Amino acid sequence: MIHGPCGNLNTAAPCMIDGKCSKSYPRNLTAETITGNDGYPLYRRRSKDDNGFTTKLRLRGEEIEIDNRWIVPYSPILSKTYKAHINVEYCNSVKSIKYICKNIHKGSDMAVFGAVAENSNDETTQYQMGRYPTVLHFAVHLENGQRVYFTENIAAQRATQPPATTLTAFFNLCRSDDFARTLLYSEAPKYYTWNHASKSFQRRKQGTPVETHHNVFASDAIGRIYTIHPTNAECFYLRLLLINVRGPLSFQNIRTVNGQICTTFREACMKLHLLEDDTHWNDTLTDSAASSTPFQIRTLFAIIISTRFPASPGELRNNHKNSMTEDILYRIRIATGNHNLDYTSNMYNEELILVEDLCLSIANKALT
Ligand SMILES: [Zn+2]
Repeated sequence: MIHGPCGNLNTAAPCMIDGKCSKSYPRNLTAETITGNDGYPLYRRRSKDDNGFTTKLRLRGEEIEIDNRWIVPYSPILSKTYKAHINVEYCNSVKSIKYICKNIHKGSDMAVFGAVAENSNDETTQYQMGRYPTVLHFAVHLENGQRVYFTENIAAQRATQPPATTLTAFFNLCRSDDFARTLLYSEAPKYYTWNHASKSFQRRKQGTPVETHHNVFASDAIGRIYTIHPTNAECFYLRLLLINVRGPLSFQNIRTVNGQICTTFREACMKLHLLEDDTHWNDTLTDSAASSTPFQIRTLFAIIISTRFPASPGELRNNHKNSMTEDILYRIRIATGNHNLDYTSNMYNEELILVEDLCLSIANKALT
């Protein structure tokens, strides 16, 4: 897996563009592998003095010595198995894994496939699949805001007695069960099963006994509360309360702070210091950075600053400007062939222009 050689040794090599190798060879000699901030590793390339291998090649009748600066990252076992030149890169950070899984910056030049024999019985996979914990999806809705289905005949009955949702059932559970009052909404499936027919939670009858409470058993089931978009403000704040308040008894009870019923869920969040600063916006953007494209993160940020009025929008943007500029950096790296290029003020400026365009279309507001 030797690149080229190109450069001064062979100016006519196909990788040469404008007198430079478009693949950035020869690379620098490095005593140890270093991982850059962006997850791109600089692989160990030992020099001859540091016991690095060298080999001799003949190029147009001349013998030249090739050292580790010319080696393309590879895996001997893959090269041997597939009898092909396969460039293998080391993925060791969330950033680089996100980059590969989502393949967000590149076109579709990568395919993933699996080969499965007919009538195959892959016991390993089946075993693993069977071992994933149960995940329950939990509803979040305002009081009387849940979706109901009805026909003409049952419309009145549905309106007066709407079927329980996981949320209203959890309130009911907390009213009748001491142990449930120690739990967060999302913790319920660990100790209770959801009965679809009766739309209620029931204590687990088996599992690991909970020492402090008689007749309570724990499992590895997980509850996940549906995400609520910040523009859906009150519901968003209700969700924020649900992930912080243990054992809520009702919609009214969850917004009662120190004996006082708040008018809105937002007010309750404020009183509980859940909205003291921009922390939750910062966390929202940090979560988003791990799984969303730069375009999506910019859109989220534009929505936050143009509709939610965070305390310090500038600081919020500074914290997340790199994840909002990632695609611009990547595009310019490709255009210049310089993979070590870092963020520049011009790139950040382009990102701000894109964010401003979004703010203009969302709220007709300029960045200033
Ligand atoms: Zn080259």
